[in-house]
Amino acid sequence: MRLKELGEFGLIDRIAGRVPRRAGVRIGIGDDAAALEPSPGCVTLVTTDMLLEGVHFDLALCDPLTLGRKSLSVNLSDIAAMGGRPRHCLLSLAVPHDLPVEFLDRFIAGFLERAAEFEVTLVGGDTCASRGGLVVAVTVMGEQRPERVVTRGGARPGDLVFVTGTLGDSALGLKLLRQGERQGGAVLKHLDPPPRVREGLALAEAEIPTAMIDVSDGLLADLGHILDLSGVGARLELARLPLSPPLTARTPNLGADPFLLPLAGGEDYELLFTAPPDRQGAAQSALAPLGTRLSVIGEITAEGMRVIAGDGSDYPVAVRGYNHFS
Ligand code: ADP
Ligand code: MG
Repeated sequence: MRLKELGEFGLIDRIAGRVPRRAGVRIGIGDDAAALEPSPGCVTLVTTDMLLEGVHFDLALCDPLTLGRKSLSVNLSDIAAMGGRPRHCLLSLAVPHDLPVEFLDRFIAGFLERAAEFEVTLVGGDTCASRGGLVVAVTVMGEQRPERVVTRGGARPGDLVFVTGTLGDSALGLKLLRQGERQGGAVLKHLDPPPRVREGLALAEAEIPTAMIDVSDGLLADLGHILDLSGVGARLELARLPLSPPLTARTPNLGADPFLLPLAGGEDYELLFTAPPDRQGAAQSALAPLGTRLSVIGEITAEGMRVIAGDGSDYPVAVRGYNHFS
């Protein structure tokens, strides 16, 4: 079936019919606006991200199910980076008229699968025809007690710099996808990154991070945001960067700078945070039940950003990460 036969409202009904009822939603899909009940004592955290065909994804390299999952994951990651609990979401689609309905069905299935995993309810959105490619715009609302919300601005000299998981895999995965590979840990990390929602919540509830961000543009770029907003500097140690087996195995083939991907590769969606050294044990304990790797990669200093190579020399920090307008 083509979209033309289904129509805008047919498509919306198809989406609405697959959304489970959950607490906190007085009015969901179907009216002019949704009516949501906030949890007592919490502030609402809101974030939105667009995914554009040809800019953020290539339909030849991804399947609709994982694209649906990822389009929610990247937004969940932003709520995670604030230490929040995601609760509701909006999904807006601009759809090319010749996109098969089956593609949309799979996309929605992936999106709702990920929503269910984190108990997030789809409460509305917008649907229109696109004369260009597919556009997916997702908004996620989450919540947290105001004193637990973690910003980018609280890092202090002497804090340690922590990161979850491993770095550079998503960028490696994209490189491999473009070379024709379709499987393996790095490719999977690029197509279907796990949002670190449980990790962000566990850290915030234990009041561990002084500042936090998710690594979407690359480690140096995102650490740069923490440094700018906190008015501090940092010293990173290359030898401490957490690298996955697929990345290490390919390092000799990655060209002149093997650290380019972990330092500047985007879309890892790991959590990067700072905390005082005496909270290191608490941070490890908070993530241990989740089985998520946690690494200390450096420390916060008064100013500047230095990256120290294995031999103790200064590593030139030329690249900073992805910028849409550069
Ligand atoms: P309006 O014209 O008043 O903006 P719409 O016809 O666009 O209303 O939408 C009707 C209902 O369907 C609204 O509740 C809206 O939030 C929901 N909706 C529209 N598109 C989507 C979508 N892609 N996903 C989820 N809900 C949607
Ligand atoms: Mg509308």
